[in-house]
This record gives sequence, C-alpha cells and structure tokens, in this order.
Amino acid sequence: MFENLSDKLDLVFKKLRGQGVMTEENVKDALREVRLVLLEADVNFKVVKDFVEKVRSRAVGTEVLQSLTPGQQVIKIVHDELVALMGGGEDNSLDLAAKPPVAIMMVGLQGAGKTTTCGKLARYLKSQRRRPLLVPADVYRPAAIEQLKTLGRQLSIEVVDARADQDPVDICRNALQYAERSGFDTVIFDTAGRHQIDDFLMDELVRIKGAVEPREILFVADAMTGQEAVNVASGFNDRLDITGVVLTKLDGDAKGGAALSIKAVTGRPVKFAGIGEKLDALEVFHADRLVSRILGMGDVLTLVEKAQSVFDAKDAERLQQKLKKSQFDLEDFKSQLQQIKKMGSIDSILGMIPGVGKMMKQLQGAQPSEKELKRIEAIIDSMTRAERANHSIINGSRRLRIAKGSGTSVQEVNQLLKRFTEAQRVMKQLQKLGPKGLMKGMGG
Ligand code: GDP
Repeated sequence: MFENLSDKLDLVFKKLRGQGVMTEENVKDALREVRLVLLEADVNFKVVKDFVEKVRSRAVGTEVLQSLTPGQQVIKIVHDELVALMGGGEDNSLDLAAKPPVAIMMVGLQGAGKTTTCGKLARYLKSQRRRPLLVPADVYRPAAIEQLKTLGRQLSIEVVDARADQDPVDICRNALQYAERSGFDTVIFDTAGRHQIDDFLMDELVRIKGAVEPREILFVADAMTGQEAVNVASGFNDRLDITGVVLTKLDGDAKGGAALSIKAVTGRPVKFAGIGEKLDALEVFHADRLVSRILGMGDVLTLVEKAQSVFDAKDAERLQQKLKKSQFDLEDFKSQLQQIKKMGSIDSILGMIPGVGKMMKQLQGAQPSEKELKRIEAIIDSMTRAERANHSIINGSRRLRIAKGSGTSVQEVNQLLKRFTEAQRVMKQLQKLGPKGLMKGMGG
C-alpha cells in the first residue's frame, strides 16, 4: 500500500533520525523534501501547503529542537499531522441509530467499485447483527442489476427485484416500503454511475435522496485515480451533501493522494477502505493505522483485531493449559498454522508487523510462503497420532515414510521437526518467565 510514498518518506526520516542536533535549517530541509514527496504522491497542492506549514510551526518550537531526539520528534509530528489530515480521532462510524429501516445511499462514478462495495457493506452490516436489504437502482449499466443479485446470493442477503425499464426513483421508494413491511433494518441503494459527473445523473440522485431520505450518502472513490477522485467527490458533495467516503482499491498501487486529501478537501470523513476484490476485503477506516502503515510502523492494532476475530477463545484457553503443562505438540502446531491462515494471506499479515514489511522486501523469498505452510501441514498429516503427540519417537525409517506420504523430502521432514523442537524450547522458556518476565525480555 502506497509503497512509493512510504519508501520516500522513509528516506527523509532516515536522515532525520541521524541528526543529533537539530536546527531550524534542518527542519526546513526535511520539510522541503516531505513537501515534494507528498506532491509526487498526487496530494492536493493546497492540502500539502497547509500540512507543511502546520508541521513546521510545531517542529521549530524550542521543545523539539532542544529535545534529546529531535529527529524522532519531527517524525512524530509528521505522523500526528498526517493522522489529523485524514480525520483521525473524529467519529467516522455509520449513523445507524435512526428508526429502522435506515437508508444508505451509495454514489460514485462507474467503475469506482460501487456495486462491489454495496456487497461488502451488506456483509459487514450482517456481521454486526443487522438485517440489510440490497437495492439495485442502476438501470443503465446492463449488468449492474444482475451483478448485485449475484453478490446477494453469495452472501445470502436479499436483493430487491428490479428491471432495467423501471424508474430508479420508483425502485428505491418501493424497496424502502418493502423493507419496512418485511423487517429489514438497513437498506443499501446501489445507484447509477457515469464516467463523469453529468446533470442528468445528479438530478436522478437528488430525487432518490428526496424519496428515501438516507442517513448516509457514501461516495465511493477509486483511490487509484488520485486527485481526480478528490475533484469528483467535491462535485458529488456540492449536489448531494454526502456523509462520508469509501476509498476503494487501496490494495492496488495507488499513490496515496486521494486518501491523504479527500477528507481535507471535502470535509467529509473516510468511513471505509476497500482492500481487494473479495467480499471480505473491506475495513473500517482508521487514519492512525493507515499512517502507521505508510510510515512503516506496522499496523499492530489491525493485526490484533484480525487475530481476535479468528482465534477462538476456548481454543486459546486450551492452548494456554497445554503450554503450562508443556504438552504443546505437533497437532497444536498444525491447528495454530491453520488459524494463522484464516487471518488472510501470510504476506499481508507479515506486512502489518512493524519492521517486517521492509525486511521482507530485502529478504525476497525468505519468508514462509503459503506453499510452505501447506507442505508443513501435509507432513504433519502423514504422521500417526502417537507421533504427533510425541515426535521423539519418529525414527529414520518413519521419516522416510512420512516424506513419501506427504510428497516431500526427508530433509524437509527433518527441518520441520527441528523447527518445532526449537519452538517448543522457546515456549517452555516463555512459560518460565511468565507475563512479567516476558515484558522484561521485550524491553518494556
Ligand atoms: P461500479 O461500476 O462502481 O459498480 O464498480 P464495480 O463494483 O463493478 O467494480 C469495478 C471493478 O473494481 C471490479 O472489477 C471490482 O472487482 C473492482 N474493485 C472494487 N473494489 C475493489 C478494491 O477494493 N480493490 C480492488 N483491487 N478491486 C476492487
């Protein structure tokens, strides 16, 4: 995500970190570079100007220049101001408290990811124990209605029936009444998009807004289009008074300009981020976490949240007990690997851990791949139950059998057993240390 921006800021920061003594001149130089990097990332010109001025006025304060780590302080200021720029700390949650059914209108240009985001949002709301209804109101793009119906089927979420010859305003009005009758508490309207803003489209959207009185009008913005997305967002906001933005395609090689300027320019918060084509690739937007990712500080909070949503509390408790008794065996090892896999691709998880993202780039190929994990699972599957519980009974001929059974080599089996023995040893030590010792070990 935003690799170019991230790498370049990293270079500027490296220089800053090295500065023992800091002068106004140093700060000015660094900020000149930050300014260029942001402009290159397609951040709105005026936003960059204001941003640099804010950082400068804070950074040349005596407090910073006389501190022991002036470079670090400047980096922290840049971090904090980037977070503020993207609306960090402000409430960006959906306004769903009104009497149901609550209407959410999705708007944006064609191709921005509106229909996909409708599906993702419905899935998200369902996971929040709401009962969403999807409404296809794009009667112009031939496949749009069918696309939404397909998403609905995949998600087991109802999609209202609509035909291309119907008036979109009627479709929406009827759908809202149907939702009320049938006990749906949230209604998501997938409206039409064009390749660019035009009056006909805007008039239609204004009429739909009048008919369904949405609590939320979310503008779906393609982050890959940079400043263009920001301009279009402003256009939609002028006519519709949007309540928030969903930034899509943040998984692509977007430069960052849209993400960094859209809140500052429109005054509307980014509420969600689309990070892939699949229906689970939607995240509640957290400015602070995104900034930490951009600045290579990792995204531990997102990681923790993901882990919590995947790891079963009972399972964790059982594991704790086993660890205490030093009974952690290969069977547990395998189930841990499977849970890690459930959290998403290994690469994306590693990228969230501070420092690892950068390291991985240097170590191309050295990180455990999905393929390697599959092989590890295959090896463990080829062992007998007794062997999994106590791997010291696995002798040479059994190793050969296991290798054959799992389609791997004896070396790989040996390597796995060696790594597991090592992991067991570390766990035993951690157990001995206890939570307090652990903190000490980590320098906390
Ligand atoms: P619409 O015309 O605005 O309704 O756009 P669609 O929902 O049809 O999406 C257009 C394309 O963008 C499709 O190929 C989607 O799979 C893709 N897309 C949508 N959101 C994302 C995202 O967050 N990441 C990526 N990589 N692709 C996305």
